[in-house]
Amino acid sequence: MKPSLIVHGGAWAIPDEFVEDCRAGCRRALEAGWEILARGGSALDAVEAAIVVLEDDPVFDAGTGSHLNREGRVELDAIVMDGKSLKAGAVAVVERVRNPIRLARKVLESCEHMMLVGAGAEQFAVEQGLPVCDPEELVIERERAAWRRCREGAHSWEHHFGHEGGTVGAVALDREGNVVAGTSTGGTCCKRPGRVGDSPLVGCGCYADVQAGGVSCTGWGEAIMKIVMAKTAVDYLRHSAAAHPAQQAAAPHAAASACVRLLAERAGGRGGLILLDRDGRPGFAFNTPRMAYGYVAPDGSFVVSP
Ligand code: ASP
Repeated sequence: MKPSLIVHGGAWAIPDEFVEDCRAGCRRALEAGWEILARGGSALDAVEAAIVVLEDDPVFDAGTGSHLNREGRVELDAIVMDGKSLKAGAVAVVERVRNPIRLARKVLESCEHMMLVGAGAEQFAVEQGLPVCDPEELVIERERAAWRRCREGAHSWEHHFGHEGGTVGAVALDREGNVVAGTSTGGTCCKRPGRVGDSPLVGCGCYADVQAGGVSCTGWGEAIMKIVMAKTAVDYLRHSAAAHPAQQAAAPHAAASACVRLLAERAGGRGGLILLDRDGRPGFAFNTPRMAYGYVAPDGSFVVSP
C-alpha cells in the first residue's frame, strides 16, 4: 500500500501575521510523519510524531502555547484512534503533560480503558514513565495577554475573535494499510475549567476505520459534537467507497465538504476537517476564514495551505 499523510493546525480566522508560522509548522509536521511512513514505519508512529511537532510549536493551540481557561491555566485534550482495531486512546483536562498525544497513545496501547481525564490521566502518565511538567511551562506570553484582555472584558466573544483556534491533527495510512487519526488541543479560549470539547471524543474530533478512512476535526466543539462530525465523515467515505470508480477520485473532498455543510446547516457551527480515505486519498474542507493544513501529494511533494 502506498503511504499517505495529512495534517492540520486548526480552522479559524488565522491573522495574516501567523500564516507563515502555521505553514512552517504544518511542513515540519509532514516531514516528521513522512520520514517514518516513507521507510515503512507505522501510521501510529507517524501520527504521533507529526502531532508532537505541532504540540511543541507555540503558534498552535495544543501543548505549548495552548489557550488558557478562565482561571488562567491550560487544560489539554488529545486522542489517537487505530483504524484496524477501532480502539482509541483519549485524555482530557490534563495540565502537566507536555505532549498529550503521547499520553493518548499510552492509553491506546497500555490501558484497559479508552479515555482518562484529569488527575487520573496524569497518574497514568506517571505510571507509564511519561515525564510530567510544571503547567506554567506550557503557558506563553501571547496567551497570558489574551487571557488578561478576556478577563478584563468579562470573557466576551469579541476578545476571542481572530485568536480562537489552532487545534492540531493528523491522519496517516501506512504500507500495511492501517489508518490512524489523532487530534490534540488546548480547547477554546477562556473555557470553563473542566470543559471538554469535541477533540478527544471518539467520533466527534477524531475517527478511523480501515474499511473507510480516518478523520481529524477542528472548530467550534459544541457544534461539532452535535453532528458527531468525524464519524459522519467516515460514514460518507464508507458510502462513497461503493460509488462508481469515476466518482471515487472526488469522494474525499466531497465527504469533507458535506460535513462542513452539515455543521453549518444543522448545528450553526464553524470549523473544518482533514481526512484520508482507505486508499490514502486526502480531502479537507472548512467554513472558517482559513485553515492550516498540509498533505503529501502522490509525487511525494508537500502541499501546504496558502
Ligand atoms: N474543537 C476544539 C474545541 O472545541 C477547538 C478548535 O478546534 O479550535 O475544543
